[in-house]
Amino acid sequence: MFESLLIANRGEIARRIIRTANRLGIRTIAVYSDVDAGLPFVKEADEAIAIGPAAARESYLSVGKILEAAQRSSASAIHPGYGFLSENAEFAEAVQNAGIIWVGAPPAAIRAMGLKDAAKELMQAAGVSVTPGYMGTDQSDERLSREAETIGYPLLIKAVAGGGGKGMRRVEAADEFRQSLQSCRREALASFGNDRVLLEKYIKNPRHIEVQVFADTQGNCVHLFERDCSLQRRHQKVIEEAPAPGMDADTRQAICQAAINAAKAVDYVGAGTIEFIADASEGLRPDRIWFMEMNTRLQVEHPVTEAITGEDLVQWQLLVAAGQSLPRVQEELAINGWAIEARLYAESPDAGYLPSTGHLQHLRLPSDIRVDSGVEQGDDITAFYDPMIAKIIAHAPDRPAALEELAKACAEIEIWPVKSNANLLFRIAGDEEFRAATVDTGFLERRGQHFLRRDPDQTVIDQALTSLVKISRLDPWAALSGFRIASEPDPRAAVRIAGQTHWGNIHSGAKASVVVFDDASVLFDRGTAWPISLPVAGLVKPGGPTDDGSVFSPMPGLVTIVDVAIGARVAMGDQLLTVEAMKMEYSLRAPFAGIVAELRVSPGSKVSENQLVATVVKEVS
Ligand code: ADP
Ligand code: ADP
Ligand code: MG
Repeated sequence: MFESLLIANRGEIARRIIRTANRLGIRTIAVYSDVDAGLPFVKEADEAIAIGPAAARESYLSVGKILEAAQRSSASAIHPGYGFLSENAEFAEAVQNAGIIWVGAPPAAIRAMGLKDAAKELMQAAGVSVTPGYMGTDQSDERLSREAETIGYPLLIKAVAGGGGKGMRRVEAADEFRQSLQSCRREALASFGNDRVLLEKYIKNPRHIEVQVFADTQGNCVHLFERDCSLQRRHQKVIEEAPAPGMDADTRQAICQAAINAAKAVDYVGAGTIEFIADASEGLRPDRIWFMEMNTRLQVEHPVTEAITGEDLVQWQLLVAAGQSLPRVQEELAINGWAIEARLYAESPDAGYLPSTGHLQHLRLPSDIRVDSGVEQGDDITAFYDPMIAKIIAHAPDRPAALEELAKACAEIEIWPVKSNANLLFRIAGDEEFRAATVDTGFLERRGQHFLRRDPDQTVIDQALTSLVKISRLDPWAALSGFRIASEPDPRAAVRIAGQTHWGNIHSGAKASVVVFDDASVLFDRGTAWPISLPVAGLVKPGGPTDDGSVFSPMPGLVTIVDVAIGARVAMGDQLLTVEAMKMEYSLRAPFAGIVAELRVSPGSKVSENQLVATVVKEVS
């Protein structure tokens, strides 16, 4: 084994590589950009070298700076991680030419698989079936339109140099084709410097199934079974699992063999992943799975494979790079249990998965489960790199148990003020359709509304209220007159949650995770972070207990509707009037059955928070 290893990457994967290197007694060298100087991977490496400004082009993507750092630190090997330079054949060559061991695929194999069209042609020649479509050199609009007609709609236009879900357009009908083609070419040129495209039939009920392969320099090649990465947003993976649900032994045998054939066709060495697309409209069948592309590197979701096989894939990479043979033969590898990984992203699922950046003032990740993360509380999520905060990896004897473990872990996540998809992950893990394992890549698009943020439920409201009363050392007994009336066991009062007023009950023993920051109090509930506060005037009593029918406006706003007149007879819960503010409407209701005795507003009235607007009195019979 070599003596030292430079990691040409950052964050989570850099830490992951350092962990294995430490165990093997290999000295580690981190390289980092200016904004990353304080991150854990920089501290955890034995040596760390600054390589420039935040922009990846001037740091993590700079071949010159990384080689210089390698020379300066006398690194014997370089691991590129994933993303950045990991699939850059020129970089791999430059590393080797500098006399440094390259922990990655041979440059020729990277090149062969680098462009999607050439890779598909090569695979076809090797007898691997590829996604039907057009991958010719004639790139004229006329030819592409004609080929599109032959393939039929819907279809996909893909940049041959594309990756990471970029440079892809789904076209529904012929009249959209030319416009999509132009925009795909523009994006491809801007992102990959190559505007060539290929066309692919859009597979029905598509499932993304991929096979982990490994080869050494002695000609051994094994697979480590499949992963299912069908749960995606914007063609990017969110949840991955191994094995694939519904995979029978014959189909598994067929695709794993196809993956080995693919790797052998390019004289592959190291860790690689063959991605297939499956038409799952009638379950998984060997004749309905097609080669999509090969990723000539370690994959983000490698932990699920590690979990079910019990192997350390980074260790395998280092062994192979050092010229040793694979630590296992095929017969020694078996699937043990079920593993599911969720990618915790700094993003807002409610806003179209808009990335969220900022300071991780508060970060609590689950503890009884494997978590691979690049950041800790106090670090920053910057806009320069991947928005991933962590990967949560559940492993259990079977799929239901793994899902349960994952749901429980995601429910524990606390992040503030950066937004995350933690609650979405929690809800997906418990979703009946996802549990039924009928997921294809359109799942989130179809069912996404199920996972969006809802209003806080009554438990959350009560917990928020109770916690705030405790935190602000308010005495609800004193603050809420009339509370002691026997018919009202808990005092009701108003609480503001995420900018809206809710009425809740103050309990004696609500247990919630509430953290008080300088500028906000936040209640964490199943992955959601709710900013909470008491109304400006402190505790506000609602419609009020039995003998007090005062009705207050919960927020400043405009009265839009008045449903009752003075003297009207109302039932408990009847709507009295509506207050609107910030595009949000709030109905004020009768606290009990009675007569409207007082009405202080009319439509158009401006009201302030806690202003008395109406009074209901009990009818004396
Ligand atoms: P990238 O290089 O960006 O990873 P891929 O070719 O691997 O691009 O495709 C990314 C994702 O797009 C797949 O995981 C799958 O969800 C979807 N996809 C790709 N090709 C097809 C297809 N022919 N039919 C349906 N979905 C597809
Ligand atoms: P997969 O490995 O399954 O193909 P992706 O397509 O998301 O998953 O993997 C490649 C992506 O990994 C890159 O496009 C980049 O956005 C992301 N990436 C690169 N470096 C890191 C890192 N250190 N930590 C997390 N993600 C990273
Ligand atoms: Mg892909």
